[in-house]
Amino acid sequence: MNFISTRGEAPALGFSDAVATGLAPDGGLFLPEELPQFSGDDLKAFAGLDYPALCTAFFRRFATDIDDATFAAIVAKSYTTFSHPEIAPLVPLADNLQVLELFHGPTLAFKDFALQLLGNLYEHQCATRQQTINVLGATSGDTGAAAIHGLLGKPGTAIFILYPDGRVAPLQERQMTCTGADNVFAMAIEGSFDDAQTALKEIFADQDFRLSHRLSAVNSINLARVLAQCVYYLSAWLRLPADRQDNVEFVVPTGNFGNVLAGWMLQKMGVPIRGFKVATNQNDILYRLFTTGEYQVDRVAPSLAPSMDIQVASNFERFLYFSVGRDAARVREIMSTFKATGQYRFENFDADTFSASRCNDAEIPSIIKSVYDRYGYVADPHTACAFAEHDPDRLSVVLSTAHPAKFPDTIRAAIGVDPTHPSLEALKERPIIKHPVAATADAIRGFITERAL
Ligand SMILES: *Cc1c(COP(=O)(O)O)cnc(C)c1O
Repeated sequence: MNFISTRGEAPALGFSDAVATGLAPDGGLFLPEELPQFSGDDLKAFAGLDYPALCTAFFRRFATDIDDATFAAIVAKSYTTFSHPEIAPLVPLADNLQVLELFHGPTLAFKDFALQLLGNLYEHQCATRQQTINVLGATSGDTGAAAIHGLLGKPGTAIFILYPDGRVAPLQERQMTCTGADNVFAMAIEGSFDDAQTALKEIFADQDFRLSHRLSAVNSINLARVLAQCVYYLSAWLRLPADRQDNVEFVVPTGNFGNVLAGWMLQKMGVPIRGFKVATNQNDILYRLFTTGEYQVDRVAPSLAPSMDIQVASNFERFLYFSVGRDAARVREIMSTFKATGQYRFENFDADTFSASRCNDAEIPSIIKSVYDRYGYVADPHTACAFAEHDPDRLSVVLSTAHPAKFPDTIRAAIGVDPTHPSLEALKERPIIKHPVAATADAIRGFITERAL
């Protein structure tokens, strides 16, 4: 299978090259040339598989340049780091409400599903191409931690993660800085997340530097991440009661639109999911889009669900590509209008499939409390946004994107309970190793040059 760019001006690549490239050279995002179609028989055959086997069977349609046994081994290794035997368990709360728990990976957030796999794919590439790789990214929290744990101690790889010093949650900082691995460099930037991103863009635009250090970007647009996320929707859907499978709505705490996009693509592959609800926090650009058709950038207002604090949803371009009938010229035109004006009006945004809700910071603690009182269930602040409201005529599956113990202050204030997790407790005993660096491209380049493989 080949992968093409949403902007239509980059050569098609095979799976491994598209994964290694990340962002397409024309500035677009990679997508499968054709979405495979899963028949009723295919879905029946999937039904008996455990999570790693299902993931392998799903990827067989995409990763056609890696042989079966090798791919199965990469997948098996990726999910042994999860602490729950079902990997992504479904927890029933009421007759028409279930929670899909996506926080049993090493950093207790759903990003582990993709980044454990991506880390092992990178390791495989280093081995087969006999090259080292240096991964670079900026984070405001969960992505950096998950990326670091995807590459922890992997031979041939080094990972450099920039984060704004003093502005990520203390436990997120510990997940990045207490690993003890010597291929991990947590760089505490003297500045904001935006300063870190600006410096990062400048570094990636420096072709010579990028190529000579074999730098690869870790961010939410990598194709392998989206595909890895399709699998938990499929796994959940297969386990629903047969008479309710085609009337399910997945409710997804949304920031960069990567998670919900994966579910939507799975629906486009023939899995009859009724709908998706895009649940935002007070940074509601996508709520406004799916309720009015108007896509308009606003300022980011930091919230109690920080991993959903975004301005422009970077994965949205993939959805856009499909919604304009795969017309790459039209995507280029829309993206450039949007870049120039900060807004765009959509005519076709699949209103039959998508609904939306939003939740401000005053509501998050009260939702955590009402979910706890009603069901005895502790939802983290991101997941809480997905409990905002429900369609009573459908079976709702709420995606729980983080473990509540990552955000103890918000939980304690809401319900007076101190959520804990053994892996976080263990981190508190370990020394923090972080590297303070100025928020300039030169300072960051200098740091990387001394340590890159
Ligand atoms: C990243 C993240 C989100 C947002 O996911 P997107 O794919 O960016 O929409 C939601 N919740 C948590 C806990 C996250 O880490």
